[in-house]
Amino acid sequence: PILLLPTGEQQVVVACRIRPMTEEEEMEGATNIAHKVADDNMVVLLDPEEDHDNALRANRSRERKYVFDVVSDARADQHEVYSSSSKLLLSSVLEGYNATVFAYGATGAGKTYTMLGTENNPGVMYRTLHDLFVEIKKFEGKREYQVTMSYLEIYNELIRDLLAPASSFLELREDAKGTIQVAGLSEIIAKTPEEVMDMLHKGNRARTQEPTKANKTSSRSHAVLQVNIKQRDINRSHTDQVRFAKLYMIDLAGSERAAQTQNTGKRMIEGAHINRSLLALGNCINALSEKGNTKYVNYRDSKLTRILKDSLGGNSRTLMIAHISPASIHFEESRNTLNYADRAK
Ligand code: ADP
Ligand code: MG
Repeated sequence: PILLLPTGEQQVVVACRIRPMTEEEEMEGATNIAHKVADDNMVVLLDPEEDHDNALRANRSRERKYVFDVVSDARADQHEVYSSSSKLLLSSVLEGYNATVFAYGATGAGKTYTMLGTENNPGVMYRTLHDLFVEIKKFEGKREYQVTMSYLEIYNELIRDLLAPASSFLELREDAKGTIQVAGLSEIIAKTPEEVMDMLHKGNRARTQEPTKANKTSSRSHAVLQVNIKQRDINRSHTDQVRFAKLYMIDLAGSERAAQTQNTGKRMIEGAHINRSLLALGNCINALSEKGNTKYVNYRDSKLTRILKDSLGGNSRTLMIAHISPASIHFEESRNTLNYADRAK
């Protein structure tokens, strides 16, 4: 039995997924340094550079331990990861609360696998929509629903419509009430999860270049799926019977560069090589998870945080799934990711 939500007991849920070792990693002679401690939701990360005997003598530990709300390892399949994460947000979304699911981690750590998945083994996006449609069906004849979606990319602080990839860059507009809109973004009516899945795969192929070993440019693009759920009690016509909620599911840019800057404690550095949206998001989430009421959350620093303004904090639910490789050759990246996720709790 797992946790917490959807009653709002916990606004920010942090999960960690350790993917299986890949063939390439095995061929490079990597050893497995990340382990889940059964039943404890703990990740133990071994420092591969630290010599065992030296560490013992100096009374140092080669191990770092991290506790999260949910931990899954190589044995966990897509269904299990979905059930222990995004699925928990569904009931609050249907009650009218905004929610956001982030996949965080370095390039190659498994973010797209978790969010999009493969055609045969779909990820969180498909499974969430599937169950959303199942839930909605239960209220047929009582409540009326309209589900629409958009899919966009933020790359170098430029917004592109992944459902209309040939169109030009889109701008953010803020109305008098402070609501942010992406001007001209296509919004389609979603009817079946299969249809949606098809679109997501098409959209994903339109993302700015998928990663290759030599060229990691795509690690800087965020893919943002926005699902709008509007519902109305059929038997009443008052406008206050209309509920509206937004669910974002976001495949974030690779964290490998941002993490370095975060570790030096600098809040924001200008420059094309730094992912502004990723840094701003980190700062926002840190501010939100700070205890006390002196929270100052600066949404204005990036496109991503401006888009998410009314979906972070307040009554919204946030779920972050931090991804790591178990391979010793990725120790630094994994440590940075785990530290980042640890701060978000
Ligand atoms: P990212 O999006 O973080 O850059 P990917 O999702 O593309 O990483 O994953 C990198 C590689 O590892 C891909 O080939 C992917 O299919 C594989 N992979 C990732 N996570 C898993 C998993 N949980 N099980 C099996 N293969 C995985
Ligand atoms: Mg990816």
